[in-house]
Amino acid sequence: MRKYGLELLIGIVPVLLIFLIYAGVNIMPFLLIAILAGGVTFALMSRGKMTAMQGGKQRLEVSAASMSFEQIGGQERAKSELIEALDFLVRHEEIKKLGIRPMKGILLTGPPGTGKTLLARAAAQYTDSIYLAASGSEFVEMYVGVGAGRIRDLFKEARQKAKKAGKSSAVIFIDEIDVIGGKRDGGQHREYDQTLNQLLTEMDGIRSDEAPRILIIAATNRKEMLDSALLRPGRFDRHIGVELPDKKGRLHILNLHAANKPIDPSIDLERIASESFGFSGAQLESVMNEGAIYAMREGSELIQESHLAMAIDKVMMGEKTDREATKEERDRVALHELGHAIAAELVRPGSVSQVALSPRGQALGYVRHNPQQDKYLYTREFLDSQIIIALGGAAAEEIFYGGRSTGSRNDFEQAMGIVRTMVESGLTELGIIDANMMTPEVWAKVNRSILDDLMARTKGMLEERRQVFMDALDIVIREETISGDNFRELLGSLSKSA
Ligand code: ATP
Repeated sequence: MRKYGLELLIGIVPVLLIFLIYAGVNIMPFLLIAILAGGVTFALMSRGKMTAMQGGKQRLEVSAASMSFEQIGGQERAKSELIEALDFLVRHEEIKKLGIRPMKGILLTGPPGTGKTLLARAAAQYTDSIYLAASGSEFVEMYVGVGAGRIRDLFKEARQKAKKAGKSSAVIFIDEIDVIGGKRDGGQHREYDQTLNQLLTEMDGIRSDEAPRILIIAATNRKEMLDSALLRPGRFDRHIGVELPDKKGRLHILNLHAANKPIDPSIDLERIASESFGFSGAQLESVMNEGAIYAMREGSELIQESHLAMAIDKVMMGEKTDREATKEERDRVALHELGHAIAAELVRPGSVSQVALSPRGQALGYVRHNPQQDKYLYTREFLDSQIIIALGGAAAEEIFYGGRSTGSRNDFEQAMGIVRTMVESGLTELGIIDANMMTPEVWAKVNRSILDDLMARTKGMLEERRQVFMDALDIVIREETISGDNFRELLGSLSKSA
């Protein structure tokens, strides 16, 4: 209705004026009032439009010296690939002479918190460019054309700011590019399509001889969602994977974030790096930060290893909660966790670091495992043992209660995930098979045959350790935790006495 308001007004007003003149009314006062009101409305509307175009947000602009590649931990391969690509921008005169087309877009892909934004900021510093950052979601509006307008403004702003700062280039960073760059479906989301089209148009408009030159760096963790027009040569044709850091990378990141903190010199950060397998850069930063908070809570001047260990638990499992479980629930949870722990020690001796009976995040208890070496290849035996550890909890409940509880839900999801990996890697009796072609019935069958067999093995192993369950249960209920060493002692004394 609002959309047609203006058209209706334009139609009605002249008719009304002609009628009034015809009726002999002096229309001058009306005209004056109308002109005044129109002027005020126009001024207000254009102000509103400007604000909408700017997205109502102050764009993040970082001065040149704010982030260097040295301040980014790990990611050596991503850094060197990025630097190599940026050299195209830095050595633009040579590039122009050779007739090489300018590089317009670099796509950084990888899981959240791995340092994609940091890399974009470092790229701006490396190329001595103005840096402008926006997120894909800033361009999303209900009204067709607003997102496209914002893209146009972003490029205009980048050129203006670079000129004003006397820079010869500008880096535009668009985070979550998948929000606007998703595959076009031909009509359903016209607004998204227009926004994406505008981005493509702006990219096509970038020339090697223009000043200031523009480089767009975009980030996503869903590259497969992107429209192929974005990825074709001449647009985002450099793709750099930014993966989770390996142990060396994790140590580097921990050291970077430890630099401004009072750390006890005896802390073995390498051990913390091992224990934080699978953590992203952002999670590692959080470990150091939470460690410092634990130190402050305890009134300690230095951050101790125990603070960092607690911080890892917190980042991995969430903050301790005040949920009060009943006595029966606590017993069941303790036996469940001991089931995991005993199974883990039997298939991978020395692997348990702690069994805890304290509510954290969604869990009521947990087993912490000792650091393992980063592993990238898994054998069938290893995956079997992984499933045995996951099933240990449910097996223990079956042994002591004759049935399971909802507490095993995540364990089963994990176990079924491992079965899927086995099937997809051709490690099952099905042989080499395309998992996408498998019917739900075949999936159910393969899951059942592998998991039933491993469940029977797990129960058999745990049945023989009933006494360890009982001894450890006492300690866990009383003290909330049992260390890996104490736990192994209980297990060891049983096997000696047996
Ligand atoms: P998202 O995809 O969620 O936007 P991202 O990959 O862009 O994440 P960043 O915003 O760059 O991640 O990282 C978030 C924070 O995590 C950084 O401010 C920094 O403190 C820390 N961090 C992440 N990766 C690294 C790294 N490689 N070295 C040092 N710190 C890192």
